[in-house]
Parts: sequence; C-alpha cells; structure tokens
Amino acid sequence: MSYTYDDQNIFAKILRGEIPNKTVLETEHTLAFHDIYPQAPIHVLVIPKGPYVCYDHFCQTASDAEIVDFTRTCGKVCEMMGVKDGGFRTIANAGENAIQEVPHLHFHILGGRNLGRMLA
Ligand code: IMP
Repeated sequence: MSYTYDDQNIFAKILRGEIPNKTVLETEHTLAFHDIYPQAPIHVLVIPKGPYVCYDHFCQTASDAEIVDFTRTCGKVCEMMGVKDGGFRTIANAGENAIQEVPHLHFHILGGRNLGRMLA
C-alpha cells in the first residue's frame, strides 16, 4: 500500500511551529505533547517528525534511527508521566475503520485512571 502525506494536517502545522502545543518531550526525530481533548488524566500524543500517515507507512519507510527514537520516546513519556506502575494504554488509529482523524502517525498514551476494557 502506498500513502500520500497531506502536509496541511494539524500535526504537520504543530511540527512547523504554526500551531502551539504543550510539549512533554522532544528528540531529534520525535515530538510528544498533551492531547488537546484529554480522554484520561494522562493523555499524551507521540508523533514522528517525518511525514508518515500511519503506523504501516512509518514501518515501511522510516529509517531505523527514526523507529528506535520513536519507540524509546514512547517509553520515556510513560516514565515521565508516571503511568508505568498503575498501567497505561497505547493506541494508534489507522485509516477509516479506526476513524483516524489526523493523518499523521500518532500514538496515544493514556493513563491515570482505570481505562476499562477496550476490546469487546
Ligand atoms: P485520532 O482520532 O487517533 O486521529 O486522534 C487525533 C487526536 O488529536 C485526538 O485525540 C484530538 O483530541 C487530538 N488533537 C487534535 N488537534 C490537536 C491539537 O491541536 N493539539 C493536541 N491534540 C490535538
């Protein structure tokens, strides 16, 4: 599957500094920031800086350095936000069936409360 990246999406604007964000952590290849409509006491979005539509696009085309940096940043965010002990959930919506709103790969990291069962 091939992907076309829309550089007018809101996270692209955040990465270009056109829209403010509440940054949690920034590295060479990755940015983590608070979700504007948090669904839990902790709700952080982690995005690669590169133009990747979704996780599949990222896995297919990102460099090893980007993938390692992204993965480790997710781990560091969990540590920084203190969700490791109580538990947390990581979600990456992709495409229509998952109702992905913003077409730039993002991992949601949710925690700070009992999140209930996700899979019915
Ligand atoms: P999706 O449905 O997985 O694509 O999630 C998109 C997420 O982006 C939602 O949780 C929104 O609340 C969040 N969001 C949209 N615009 C902004 C913003 O400007 N700053 C931070 N989060 C945003």
